[in-house]
Amino acid sequence: MNYQRLNNCDQQTVLTIYAHADDEVLPAAGTLRLMSQAGWNVRCLILTEGNLSSSLIKGTRHQEADAAGKIIGATYEFYALEECNFSTQAVIKVTEEAIGRWQPDLIITHAPQPEKYGHRDHEVCAIAVSNVATRRNLPLWYSAPPVFLRGFEPNFFVDITSVIEEKVAAIGCYESENNKAFMQLDAILVLSRFWARELGQKDGYFEAFEIARQWVNANFFSAWANSKKQLLSQKLT
Ligand SMILES: [Zn+2]
Repeated sequence: MNYQRLNNCDQQTVLTIYAHADDEVLPAAGTLRLMSQAGWNVRCLILTEGNLSSSLIKGTRHQEADAAGKIIGATYEFYALEECNFSTQAVIKVTEEAIGRWQPDLIITHAPQPEKYGHRDHEVCAIAVSNVATRRNLPLWYSAPPVFLRGFEPNFFVDITSVIEEKVAAIGCYESENNKAFMQLDAILVLSRFWARELGQKDGYFEAFEIARQWVNANFFSAWANSKKQLLSQKLT
């Protein structure tokens, strides 16, 4: 990430790319809300429309995503790739198009997981998005999988305590999914607490990410060195 720009008031854009609507809120709704509060442009791209479910669900998913977007301050866009059948090439194309349109400063997607544990669509999405982010030299974060954390190595934690209610509300928008065990309120809170414990924190709620690619503009170091020098000269005078 370009920390120089982070400190400026320039608007930053985060682009999330997930296979299914609801994949984005469980691991990242709190962080996305904090970003939108800080003035970031939050774009959520969903690869499928839930067409393996009944056609009624398809319309419902859009409405649910829009409702969640209002809470976390995000705009959604759906693609109609075929669930459980899309290729890495298709995701690469969609990702390239979205990057061209929104010029994101950061991309967040599924964590790549071995086929044995992960969802097929999540895995294909993770591989394709990682490929594009690497070629484009774009900062990339992987978010925590809902279950089966094997292979996920978080190295970045966001304190979402101040927005935990918004996170829970955003997840609650996906009523068509609330039969899933990991969408239940207790599971959401337990996982958020789990990450707090991972950090040795007794209280608070956290979201965990694995930073896959990050970069710092060289200006950051000179600006930092200059501020140190200023501090030092202030102390000496
Ligand atoms: Zn999913």
